[in-house]
Amino acid sequence: MSQIAFTESEERRELRKQVARLAGKYGREWFTERARPGEKTTDLWLEIGKNGYLGINIPEEYGGGGGGIGDIAAVCEELAAQGCPLLLMVVSPAICGTIISRYGTDEQKQRWLPGICDGTGTMAFAITEPDAGTNSHNITTTARKDGDGWVLNGRKIYISGVDEADNVLVVARTEDERTGKLKPCLFVVPTDAEGFEAKPIPMEIVSPELQFQVFIDDVHLPADALVGDEDGGLVQLFAGLNPERIMAASFSTGLARFALDRATAYAKERTVFKDAIGSHQAIAHPLAQSHIEIELARLMTQKAAALYDAGDDMGAGEAANMAKYAAAEAACDAADRAVQTHGGNGITQEYGMAGLLVATRAGRIAPVSREMILNFVSMHSLGLPKSY
Ligand SMILES: Cc1cc2nc3c(=O)[nH]c(=O)nc-3n(C[C@H](O)[C@H](O)[C@H](O)COP(=O)(O)OP(=O)(O)OC[C@H]3O[C@@H](n4cnc5c(N)ncnc54)[C@H](O)[C@@H]3O)c2cc1C
Repeated sequence: MSQIAFTESEERRELRKQVARLAGKYGREWFTERARPGEKTTDLWLEIGKNGYLGINIPEEYGGGGGGIGDIAAVCEELAAQGCPLLLMVVSPAICGTIISRYGTDEQKQRWLPGICDGTGTMAFAITEPDAGTNSHNITTTARKDGDGWVLNGRKIYISGVDEADNVLVVARTEDERTGKLKPCLFVVPTDAEGFEAKPIPMEIVSPELQFQVFIDDVHLPADALVGDEDGGLVQLFAGLNPERIMAASFSTGLARFALDRATAYAKERTVFKDAIGSHQAIAHPLAQSHIEIELARLMTQKAAALYDAGDDMGAGEAANMAKYAAAEAACDAADRAVQTHGGNGITQEYGMAGLLVATRAGRIAPVSREMILNFVSMHSLGLPKSY
């Protein structure tokens, strides 16, 4: 009988240690010093690439480590736990890397995967549209056949890291769709293609990665820009969505651990009455609660990754949604409690805690909102009627 262990393998734990050590060399102060004035954290990105962590989930023959989503999720979590969260890990290796590994031709894999692995060929991912929002079935970005190739037209919004990417994996629909149902197709679009334009959206997040509005006007693409089968439908897209949720959960648990570590250290040091503030249960209990909530979210994230890597897509879907929900909630609460523990220092730039409020809050909205996860669980786990 197969069994999924409740603790990670020795190898995975060692991976976590190595990544934590590497990210620890950079650290939170280094990270925010770059993010605040709008600089990039490319040095760290390239170093994790060089060490083989960025493509750890990609097959070895294309420059990767041959591991699974559990491995890349561990890398993502440990970076965030050191205060160096790298949002593009969710997108480039986990979504784009997985979809291309699964559905790309050998030639496409040779072309795009090595750059995703070593960090020199980052790929962004674009599905969200201004009018469709959460309802991806309503996307209107359209691909029209043009001789052997394609012409793309549409608008995308909140697309992360377009300025750092060579290509964007764009979700479009084919023009001759009769049923009105989404028949998504995936296209690799170079960010320097004629007719492709990206404008940064001013956001309140202290992050080196920016979000963009993307304008796609008559962008001509060759036939082999299409990844997967034109009639492959939702299955190809969904291949990237479980990894996305598992990565988003890990991003959140990493940030939550970082917030809790800083809060705990401060609670041990800061004394205003006769003992350190951590001796007051009003300070200690919320931190203990956060520790429990974070560990629960990590356990569900590891379960989701283990199911996904074992090939159980259905089981992984429910677990990945629940993990992403639990991780975002745990992270928002941990950030809030960390700010409170720091008192006035909690909202200074020096201590850098308040920025975590927005960073963790984004986890309740993206890549899938908490409401849509509750819709999923109501319907699929509890068998309640579809509400939308
Ligand atoms: C920091 C950040 C980075 C992002 N990066 C990317 C990226 O790289 N690529 C990309 O494609 N997208 C990206 N996104 C977009 C993200 O996936 C969307 O913001 C998210 O899916 C929500 O869509 P929306 O913002 O249009 O909200 P809306 O769809 O307008 O929803 C607004 C609110 O209504 C709720 N709601 C809507 N429908 C229902 C319903 N049926 N039941 C209950 N509640 C409902 C939602 O949960 C939400 O709270 C990013 C977003 C952020 C904030």
